[in-house]
Amino acid sequence: MERHDVETLVSLVSRTQHELLGTQDVTRFMALKEELLETLEQAKTALAHHEELANLWRGLELNLTMFQSRIRSAEADVIAAAAAAAPPPPPIPPTISDLIDSLTNEAQKLPLRRLMMRHAEDQLYLAGYEAASPGRGDVEGTFTVLGSVRKGTRESYNVKWYRLNAKPTSFWCSCPDHKFNSAKKNMMCKHICFLVARVARILDTGFFESKQFTAEQHAAFAAIVQNAAIFADGSRERERLATAAAGYAAAAAAATAGLEAARDTFRVCRKPVTAEDMCPICYDVMEDTECLNCPTCSNNVHRECMEVWLERNSTCVYCRSDVWRRWR
Ligand SMILES: [Zn+2]
Ligand SMILES: [Zn+2]
Ligand SMILES: [Zn+2]
Repeated sequence: MERHDVETLVSLVSRTQHELLGTQDVTRFMALKEELLETLEQAKTALAHHEELANLWRGLELNLTMFQSRIRSAEADVIAAAAAAAPPPPPIPPTISDLIDSLTNEAQKLPLRRLMMRHAEDQLYLAGYEAASPGRGDVEGTFTVLGSVRKGTRESYNVKWYRLNAKPTSFWCSCPDHKFNSAKKNMMCKHICFLVARVARILDTGFFESKQFTAEQHAAFAAIVQNAAIFADGSRERERLATAAAGYAAAAAAATAGLEAARDTFRVCRKPVTAEDMCPICYDVMEDTECLNCPTCSNNVHRECMEVWLERNSTCVYCRSDVWRRWR
């Protein structure tokens, strides 16, 4: 290494250092720092055997010591600035109970409170969804929501979900509460509350006041409808069935051994229930409640909810396997 090489190196170090101390970008800062430390390491090795360049090296080393202390404080600053500029973490979703506490409309609190009770008369079940033809009319689709049995008949209501901003409110329900109270008390019935707060877990005070989805909420709700097991389309059902033929054969074999033996195959849990698992019919947690397990797809469902589902359907809520004929 010649004298002019050392001079070039010193000016290179000085330029990089200048750029490094001027940047606010953490990634760029770290890259420049790496580059600079590597250059200095190489210079140190190259200059070690040149007695006559010792003075220049000592100058460089002095620079290096100053550089290292400056880089440490600059690094702390640039990291702190980046942390301050980053968006805050998303807030922890509130519970239905938090939502109720933050509402001012007393009439709206009641149907939401009923969602948190597990009394038979307050239990709601999602039983179906029919999408409207795209581009025609104001309706996105219609949900079927079931309630408890009254006077020998299970309550069943249709909840219409409207296209974004098509109507002053995003939903309409066929129940008497909606007909007689919604406009009068400026509230939504428990069936609509069930779809929004329980199924979609949209717990936004703004929605329960305006009764109108924002564009983001509308899209989030559409994604939930798209992905819900209960609304699985034909292609997904066939895919699941194809991968689950073995389970079906086992259940069918057991069925020939008698009804109780066949029923036992639904009680064997092949997929452990976790705290996050939600029942696809009542949208409540699965833990600590009796569950059945589909012999075809191994998914779990509340026993009580599956029996409600089987009043109107003959196939699995998840995979549409007809193995459930063995349960009834
Ligand atoms: Zn209703
Ligand atoms: Zn359930
Ligand atoms: Zn299944």
